[in-house]
Amino acid sequence: MISTDACIHCHMCRDNCSFLTKYKIDICDTEKLKELAYHCFLCGRCSSVCPVGIDGRGLILEMRRERAVSDGKQAIEKEYKGLIAEKRDYKFRNWKNVTNGTVFFPGCNFPSMYPKTNAALVRLFSEHGIGTVYECCGKPIAELGLAGDEERILDGIRRRLNDAGVTEIVTACPNCMNFFGDRLGVKVRSVYDKLSELGEGKLLKGDMEFYIPCPDRSEKKWLEEIKLFVDGNVTVNDSAQCCGLGGSAIKHEEELADGFVQKLGESTDHKLFTYCASCTGRFRRSGLRSIDHVLPLIIGTDEKPDTVKSYLNRVFTRFK
Ligand code: SF4
Ligand code: SF4
Repeated sequence: MISTDACIHCHMCRDNCSFLTKYKIDICDTEKLKELAYHCFLCGRCSSVCPVGIDGRGLILEMRRERAVSDGKQAIEKEYKGLIAEKRDYKFRNWKNVTNGTVFFPGCNFPSMYPKTNAALVRLFSEHGIGTVYECCGKPIAELGLAGDEERILDGIRRRLNDAGVTEIVTACPNCMNFFGDRLGVKVRSVYDKLSELGEGKLLKGDMEFYIPCPDRSEKKWLEEIKLFVDGNVTVNDSAQCCGLGGSAIKHEEELADGFVQKLGESTDHKLFTYCASCTGRFRRSGLRSIDHVLPLIIGTDEKPDTVKSYLNRVFTRFK
């Protein structure tokens, strides 16, 4: 278990997190934190602000893994039934169009929210000899603390990649890339990085203000790659700690999750942009209409998230 022995009780974690503030605890209050492990959004802000480098997010994930053992898997399965039924053995998996070498891996939420842009990307990549696979990376299951399922999902993806001779994955989802890291034994790149290499995508004119999805918040690697498609100033809006979907915590903390959206909405008069389909869908569904995903603009579809038929769009990926 990650140690909190080095804690200097500065409260920086609490001051930067609505969840810790609500329960008046710091990351070092481990007994209380363990009870509330499924209330945390796993956004990682506590880890990035801690002056002595305590990884609060990692600690809470470890606590969830412990809870999944001590409470019994059945308790978690009962509570997150829908998510587990869809993603434990991904229902809409489709590897028919896998190619060796490089493959496009849009993730599960991008094709749900942006079916037209996804289709345009599939066509564009196919012109470069790159096929597409539909798969869930396993992060939502891993974040529930189901460590055995996490390893089984990753093993399955590794085996399918290996069987097909894939050496490079291009993903449209920062969560997939962050979760995979170097665990698959193949190169994992963002769609923006690959589009730059291929000389594809439109240059967007004008200044742009970005909400950064949690997995890119500390490194901002995706943002740097996106900047190559922007002819203008890029600024960051850091007012919301998460879109509210992180760690499936919304089930217990709906009010906090709604507060994040409200805070972001009130923080600026400018149009906002982001690069996570789940974030865009969540913000728009919650009434924040002034935020767009940057990828449809770069591809030229200017598509808005399909918050009505998103599940159906995901079902269709099974048959592409
Ligand atoms: S991961 Fe995010 S929600 Fe969880 S304790 Fe840290 S800052 Fe708070
Ligand atoms: S930010 Fe780090 S050092 Fe400060 S209270 Fe939180 S865990 Fe302790």
